Order: sequence, then structure tokens, then C-alpha cells
Amino acid sequence: MPAEAASSQHRSIARRGIMLVVSSPSGAGKTTLTRNLIEQEKHITLSVSVTTRPRRPSEIDGVHYHFISKRRFDIMRDSAELLEWAEVHGNCYGTPREPVEQALAAGRDVLFDIDWQGTRQLYDAMRDDVVSVFVLPPSAAELKARLERRAEDSDEIIVKRLRNAAEEIAHWPEYDYVLVNRDLDKSFLRLRSILTAERLKRVHRADMESFVEGLLDGLREITA
Ligand code: 5GP
Repeated sequence: MPAEAASSQHRSIARRGIMLVVSSPSGAGKTTLTRNLIEQEKHITLSVSVTTRPRRPSEIDGVHYHFISKRRFDIMRDSAELLEWAEVHGNCYGTPREPVEQALAAGRDVLFDIDWQGTRQLYDAMRDDVVSVFVLPPSAAELKARLERRAEDSDEIIVKRLRNAAEEIAHWPEYDYVLVNRDLDKSFLRLRSILTAERLKRVHRADMESFVEGLLDGLREITA
């Protein structure tokens, strides 16, 4: 087979998409980092979770979350429509399965903004495809200040989120990468570097097998 024909035939074999999970306590900057990544990186899709939490004024249904009732959540969970789910700060959150499976099958990467409980479930289900990043705030005082600046939650909820932050942070050793978010631009570059490096890892490059076969075919042809 001519080298060009071999390589175009091989090119149709898709690479495996990466499941990039980013977790942090609320207010560490994870949402800004993940939104920036989606805006600037092609070939990565944000997994939009379902939640029973009330919508914040700045949030758009279907963009930040799908806001659903507890009854609907229970139906989705019980009919295996969720890839993972967890209760966080007294509300239920879950990842709809179908969009993730479709994106991965199309060779796209998927970004998840989920907590440690969800990360564990994804690892249990799809260990080889998951890459996890934990984002830490620079200090306890800064975390509190960021939650207050956001001014979207009541004082009572802020105290609850700070209490839960300690529990979330306790799980940082379960992650592949850790970032201390002192400076948003630097943290963003680091997150992007993680994605780039992981995309180049051989285990995520199923498409390379056929590319290398094509190269070898070509070499055989020109050295015959
Ligand atoms: P928030 O209410 O501040 O948007 O999110 C609270 C926490 O729930 C965050 O740590 C966020 O990462 C987590 N979370 C959001 N969606 C999901 C999800 O689908 N599954 C899990 N396990 N956690 C989620």
C-alpha cells in the first residue's frame, strides 16, 4: 500500500479522550480556571452537572448546571443516567452519563468540575482515562475572603462551605496533580500544561499506533 494511502487510512482511528477532573473547596478559583480552559482549548467539552441546589443569580440553567428537582435527580440516579453523583453541602450533584460517553467516543476530552466523592467514582469506573487535579487556596483567610467577595451566598452558607473546605482538602493526596492558586494566570498556565502533557502520554494516543504503522509502511516502501 502506498505510504499516503496507509497513513490516511490509519488517521481515521480516533485517539482516546481524557477525562480531566478538577476539584477544590468552593472559592479556590476552580470554576474560573475550568471556564478559561474551555474557552481557550479546542477539543475539550465541559461536563454540565445536574444539581438540586437553587440557582445563583449569575448562573444560567443548562450552562453552569442543569437545575433539577430532587424527584428528577432520584429518577436519573436510579435509572443509571448518572456516571457519578454525590451529596455536597446538603444538595445533590451528578454527572449525566450520555454527553460524556458521546464526547469520549468522538475522541474529545471532557472536563469535570466535581468533588472528591465523584472523582473516586470516576476512578473506579474508568481509571485509565481519568486525570485529576486538586486546586488549593493560598490560605484559609484568602478562601474566606474569596467566598465573601463572591457575595452570592448567605453568611450561614459561607460558614458551612468553610467547614466543608477542610473535609474536601483532606482528599488532596488522592489526586494526580496539585495546584496552589495564588495567581490565576499562573495557575491557568499550569492547568493547561497538565492537559497538554497528558494528551501526549502514550496511553492516551491510540491514534499513534496506526500513525506509527503508517510510518513503518512508508519506511519499508522507500527502503525496499
Ligand atoms: P457549587 O454549589 O459551589 O457550584 O458546587 C459545590 C461542589 O459540588 C463543588 O465542589 C463542585 O465541584 C461539586 N460538584 C459540582 N457538580 C458535581 C457533580 O456532578 N458531581 C460531584 N460529585 N460533585 C459536583
